[in-house]
Amino acid sequence: MSSEADDFGSKTKSLHFLLVPLMAQGHMIPMVDLARLLAARGAHVTFATTPFNLARIQTVVDGAAASALPIRFVELHFPTMDVGLPDGCENADLIPSADLLLPFMNALSLLRRPLEAHLQNLDLNQWPKPTCLISDNFQHWTADVARNLDIPRLIFHGPSCFFLLCDLLINRHRLELEAAMEATSSGSFMLPGLPHPIMINKHEVTSVMRSDPDWSKYMESVRVAEESADGVLVNSFVELEPLYFERYQEVTGKLVWPVGPLSLYKEEFDAKAARGQVSSIDNKLLFQWLDKQKVGSVVLVSFGSVVRNTSAQLMELGYGLEASGQPFVWVVKEVGERQVLGVEEWMIKFEKRVEGRGIVIRGWAPQTLILEHVAVGGFVTHCGWNSTLEAIVAGVVMATWPHFYDQFINEQLIVDVLKIGVAFGVEEPKLFGIGDKNEVAVKVTRGEVQKVLERLMGGGDEGNERRKRAKELMEKARMAMEEGGSSWKGLQDAINYVLESRQK
Ligand code: UDP
Repeated sequence: MSSEADDFGSKTKSLHFLLVPLMAQGHMIPMVDLARLLAARGAHVTFATTPFNLARIQTVVDGAAASALPIRFVELHFPTMDVGLPDGCENADLIPSADLLLPFMNALSLLRRPLEAHLQNLDLNQWPKPTCLISDNFQHWTADVARNLDIPRLIFHGPSCFFLLCDLLINRHRLELEAAMEATSSGSFMLPGLPHPIMINKHEVTSVMRSDPDWSKYMESVRVAEESADGVLVNSFVELEPLYFERYQEVTGKLVWPVGPLSLYKEEFDAKAARGQVSSIDNKLLFQWLDKQKVGSVVLVSFGSVVRNTSAQLMELGYGLEASGQPFVWVVKEVGERQVLGVEEWMIKFEKRVEGRGIVIRGWAPQTLILEHVAVGGFVTHCGWNSTLEAIVAGVVMATWPHFYDQFINEQLIVDVLKIGVAFGVEEPKLFGIGDKNEVAVKVTRGEVQKVLERLMGGGDEGNERRKRAKELMEKARMAMEEGGSSWKGLQDAINYVLESRQK
């Protein structure tokens, strides 16, 4: 190592990043990876979250300790019952109904007191004082904590730059869009301010622009905190969305550092199998089965951590999978600990019929490992950004079935811009993952499932082109995270920014 690199390494060791994630799997998981990447570059890291969430990532906590990474995991008490949330409701995937989402988000600021108490009791002989706070953008109250500590604060953003830009423009052009939505009969119109013309529809707009005044008030606090942040870390890579990355930087006027795909954080099989939480299936049996399948033949069906489908939709999807004749792994969250009525009995019969050709995982799946298995060629996804990136990293094409929030705009990136996916054509967003009383029982029929899977897994020249593009992006994603790659540099630039701001 050169003396310059030595010098740099020892300076990084003097840094202490304080990480405050949003307690939702799609936000926790990439931030855990970010914590480990920062620590692997030599910085001290404190990862602060609630007891339940720490228990879920015990494998990571043990792994970090065993490898002597300088990370501390700190428990913050979250008083769920005081704010009308069920006991232990410490993660978005435990929120039982859509009307409890806002109380959950508003309660996040109650983490401030335990965090500040922890900071007051730090033993500075053992661990340097925090030099930078990195918080999920939804943890807006951290702006005051960083201000009191007089340290820079960086926002960590889960979604793509394409979504962040569209979200910003939709909110900026709110009045114009509302007028256009009133006037147009086709339901599609141009979003102003994008680097090239993109048509968006009413549903994409309403999935991010909620009219509820209490929600708008909460989002306003998020926006204000974001404006005062020093910079933004994005779980994406420049080569995936160069125009949107650049435009997002221009529109916000902020330093934006790409640091993803964070799922490429290198770790052993067992640790990766427990990513987010422990797998609900015997991994040995699952991977033995996958090893027996033809390369690129298996479809993974998974809707992330929060989405729950109606029982009618689940069964319809199951019939479609059965009729497609395709081997599959289907991750079902609606049975097991959170039963949707009548599904379990149906599922047992279904499993008998598809024995040998399909596997149902009830609960949590080792998703990144499944996607990266050579047998897997297609992914039925809700278009959560982590799942999207994980499919890109694996070079797997997607069948897109968005449910809410950023997922509709991510779908557009996957299908229309990157051209690595086939849409089911779902239009209506719901309010949240579960408990939307107005939800239509069946949005995608068994026939549509069958048709989309045929197109995705076969599809002639069009299908081959799609698969080729997916493999090309996979290479670019991997290169971005290698030493010297664009996201590797992005993280280094963020570290340098903190070093320089301390010198000032
Ligand atoms: N995930 C997993 N197993 C599951 C469900 C989800 O490992 O059974 C992981 C998935 O790999 C991704 C994250 O949970 O890293 C979900 O994030 P995403 O942004 O895709 O969706 P969200 O859960 O936020 O809707």
